[in-house]
Amino acid sequence: MTRFIFITGGVTSSLGKGLASAALGALLQARGFSVRLRKLDPYLNVDPGTMSPYQHGEVYVTDDGAETDLDLGHYERFTGVPTRRSDNVTTGQIYSKVIARERRGDYLGATVQVIPHVTDAIKEFVRSDLNGEDFIVCEIGGTVGDIEGLPYLEAIRQLGNELGREGSMFVHLTLVPYLASAGELKTKPTQHSVKELQSVGIQPDVVVCRCEREIPLEARHKLALFCNLRPRAVVQALDVDTIYAVPSAYHGEGLDDEVCRHFGLDTDAPDLTAWDNVTACIRKPDGEVTIGVVGKYTSLLDSYKSLAEAMTHGGIANNVRVKVNWLDSEIFEGDGTVHALEDVNGILIPGGFGERGSEGKIKAARFAREHQVPYFGICFGMQMAVIEAVRNLAGVEKAGSTEFGPCTEPIVGLLTEWTVGNRVERRDTDSELGGTMRLGAYPCVIEAGSQVHGIYGGGEISERHRHRYEVNINYREAMEASGLRLSGMSPDGTLPEIIERPDHPWFIGVQYHPELKSKPFDPHPLFTSFIEAAVAQSRLM
Ligand code: GLN
Repeated sequence: MTRFIFITGGVTSSLGKGLASAALGALLQARGFSVRLRKLDPYLNVDPGTMSPYQHGEVYVTDDGAETDLDLGHYERFTGVPTRRSDNVTTGQIYSKVIARERRGDYLGATVQVIPHVTDAIKEFVRSDLNGEDFIVCEIGGTVGDIEGLPYLEAIRQLGNELGREGSMFVHLTLVPYLASAGELKTKPTQHSVKELQSVGIQPDVVVCRCEREIPLEARHKLALFCNLRPRAVVQALDVDTIYAVPSAYHGEGLDDEVCRHFGLDTDAPDLTAWDNVTACIRKPDGEVTIGVVGKYTSLLDSYKSLAEAMTHGGIANNVRVKVNWLDSEIFEGDGTVHALEDVNGILIPGGFGERGSEGKIKAARFAREHQVPYFGICFGMQMAVIEAVRNLAGVEKAGSTEFGPCTEPIVGLLTEWTVGNRVERRDTDSELGGTMRLGAYPCVIEAGSQVHGIYGGGEISERHRHRYEVNINYREAMEASGLRLSGMSPDGTLPEIIERPDHPWFIGVQYHPELKSKPFDPHPLFTSFIEAAVAQSRLM
């Protein structure tokens, strides 16, 4: 039987509901249950693909090509279960579906309303595409009290009734702030938040309280009394030093015990050795390397969530701490010098969009090439490295990308045609922007004898993409003349997917996003190898 755990949030946003959901998923998994995590996002966009990274943070791409919320990245990193399109829905998608049905006449003359039509569509989504999992942990985005969230709360309230206590559970995550002036932790915001939930008919079964100090026993009893709960159902979630310590911390506070008790499940305590090993390694590394990430959205680090995690994973694999210098590429432009790159052990240019800052990235790629500093170019970072090489080493001075406007030497050009299985996708400059990039997992064939072949330990890989432009294979000669090896190609041989420099200790560019598949227990081989190269470089300094 599949049981549903609904996670809501109260008091403030940014409490880490996604992490809490992921950690609970990991705990249930460690008890031997199969889990799947999904997220309901109340905003009106159809997906976050068209939102600015400053608004939304990273867009997490699934194998099946959905552009989703970054919390799905946490779900995948914590449970190892590959996320799918059917794990994230937004109000934009729900309404599109309801309106399409109305236009088709499916509602047989009824007045279409939020209850029941929108709530039915939400419930349908929550229960769709299941594969007999023991648990579905379903996170509701936003904060209780948001107008956009109301249909979702109503839908999960109805689901709670339909599934019964044995099939559903409500977990509410709140904040118990410490007021320095009063010298006390305050429970009132949590009381209000639970009241708000109760007013829409939801009685939480567990309240998880984020706090920076230990919640005294009497405060927990008070919370239990006011929130209509047993004291053991008030779980404290003290701040921890690394996100990978969250599952053990929650277990220590009895969260998974309470969940099992609710469902009447009697299992052994979870085996958390893997988590303990990961946190031990993060807490006591043997050395440190510094990576300079030259990007554009460096003022909002949520934009690079998976990237930051993948670097940490590469550090775990090499038993070192990875310190990241987040550098805005514009500082290198004009007369800007590259001093900020002089002390780093590796340079990484991540994915990005648009012309602003691109010349600074090209300059950073040149610095890495000329100074033999390990260089990792991801998507946009690969494109910029290719432009740099062809401009400065093959004499194609006007080399550029059509992403920045008309271009006489389009080394990087709009992708107008590519194959997905046995179907051909076509695009032109007038195509809509939403959901039309080359998205999701595609196979890539790696040349035997190349550096990446050794790193992956094989010649056939599948990685996730999210881009509209692509390195132009018509310039193969110029690229090779500039010393680049095209070591990974799409199976039909038309799309360069990986480049490397045989004359450099570690200079690799990939058109896909390897950071999306890296996990703390299973670091991505490219990140493991890049950090290893950075460690070697640090020994030379
Ligand atoms: N802007 C580039 C493109 O669309 C790169 C995208 C990316 O880095 N994800 O191809």
